[in-house]
Amino acid sequence: MTEARVVTEADPAFETEVPVAIIGAGAAGLIAALSCRAEGIEPLVIERDPVPRGSTSLSAGLIPAAGTRFQRERGIADDAATFAVDIQRKAHGQADPALVALVSRNVAPAIEWLADAHALPFSVVHDFDYPGHSNRRMHGLPSRSGAELVDRLRQAAEQAEIPILTEAHVTTLVRDPSGAIRGLVAERPDGSAERIGARAVVLACCGYGGNKALVRKYIPDLADALYFGHPGNEGEAVLWGEQLGATLRDMTGHQGHGSVAHPQGILVSWAVIMEGGFQVNLDGDRFWNESSGYSEAGVAVLRQREGVAWDIFDARIAGITRQFEDFRQAEAQGAVITAPTIEELAARTKLPADRLRASFDAVERQKRAGTRDTFGRDWSRGAPLTAPFCAVRVTGALFHSQGGLAIDGRARVRLADGWVVPNLFAAGGAACGVSGPEASGYLSGNGLLTAVALGRIAGREAAKVAG
Ligand SMILES: Cc1cc2nc3c(=O)[nH]c(=O)nc-3n(C[C@H](O)[C@H](O)[C@H](O)COP(=O)(O)OP(=O)(O)OC[C@H]3O[C@@H](n4cnc5c(N)ncnc54)[C@H](O)[C@@H]3O)c2cc1C
Repeated sequence: MTEARVVTEADPAFETEVPVAIIGAGAAGLIAALSCRAEGIEPLVIERDPVPRGSTSLSAGLIPAAGTRFQRERGIADDAATFAVDIQRKAHGQADPALVALVSRNVAPAIEWLADAHALPFSVVHDFDYPGHSNRRMHGLPSRSGAELVDRLRQAAEQAEIPILTEAHVTTLVRDPSGAIRGLVAERPDGSAERIGARAVVLACCGYGGNKALVRKYIPDLADALYFGHPGNEGEAVLWGEQLGATLRDMTGHQGHGSVAHPQGILVSWAVIMEGGFQVNLDGDRFWNESSGYSEAGVAVLRQREGVAWDIFDARIAGITRQFEDFRQAEAQGAVITAPTIEELAARTKLPADRLRASFDAVERQKRAGTRDTFGRDWSRGAPLTAPFCAVRVTGALFHSQGGLAIDGRARVRLADGWVVPNLFAAGGAACGVSGPEASGYLSGNGLLTAVALGRIAGREAAKVAG
């Protein structure tokens, strides 16, 4: 387990000096690095793993943005103000309004910049809705996988000749008595420590999902749940922040997920639900309003017998969902069970046939009537499910934390006494997100939203401080 420390030194000495040090090489860190480089300053990215991956590589790589040319090409009219309203509605009005405005305004230009300056071939997911978004605004790369996103960002960083120091685990921040950050200490696999001085530091080391003690403290409901994010995200940003007297905000906020194929451990896109599918427990009964969102689905599914449920959908929906690499893998590993009738599906999944049939018939009746069911799910837009039918056994998981360091409009870390650390920045999962303090406040894409928008701002602002 990590030992994160902040030390104060009057006149610190370092083996190496760089203008900007960026801790973490996920989406936030790599975008911060590209953004810093675009300002003419060469940053050093410091990553604990041998190859940059992070939670970014585990994600579907889908970034919500409003008002992009990719949307316009598809005839989708959207704007940052509408996006901000959607974010705040999902967060029950509890997200920091200034941060919501900042990221919803900045993410579209950031995506277009990544496409134009670094040839990332984004397109908008135009064939299904994500819960809570009033327009289709998820942007992804061709494979719709976060692995492709982080790989292409790393290649862009390499092309821009940005050095990435891998297998370097940052344990310590060094500050001077004025409170300014002067550098850091990174531990290498052979046990040696490297002291690196920097005029500005960007924290892009994500949240605390990989730190059991912090999860138990802030998200006790998921303390024993599967953690599906990057295990190396052990919450150093939070631990350093505590020692710096930083403002930590919405620490209980997180993204869960209630559709992880079990036991295969593969994410099954919530598209299977939003396109007209539903979830049943081991008794074949529906148990909640699935359209509320996939984040709160984590706890909803874990509360069922054996902590599992079945996603029920059909071949048409499987066809749409196949655009996701993860879904293709789930199929390849036999997680998706298909049958010509509901009774046969019940036999293959070992669900009680009469109860599954009753759940299925009730859903289809609601769709025909275009009404809302007793859980509150609105079926007015649901297409009927037709044979062949599909099912995947799923469980709930913690994906990543959403609380973190409060920042100002330049992504500088805010202190509890009202000041900021002038040369310390936070982006992505290291910073507080826009989901508020509850899992149900997570709007699809809130994770990469702050990685991309704040990564770009933090890199640019760090360059200004260092330049
Ligand atoms: C399965 C899954 C699916 C998801 N799907 C989506 C989605 O489709 N859309 C969306 O918006 N969000 C999604 N998310 C959330 C999203 O992945 C994260 O919010 C986002 O990737 C965070 O980016 P980041 O750069 O802050 O962190 P990361 O990508 O996790 O990068 C952090 C990096 O910092 C390194 N690091 C950590 N500590 C240190 C240290 N002390 N020293 C050096 N290096 C360190 C880590 O090794 C890692 O490489 C998903 C998450 C999961 C787990």
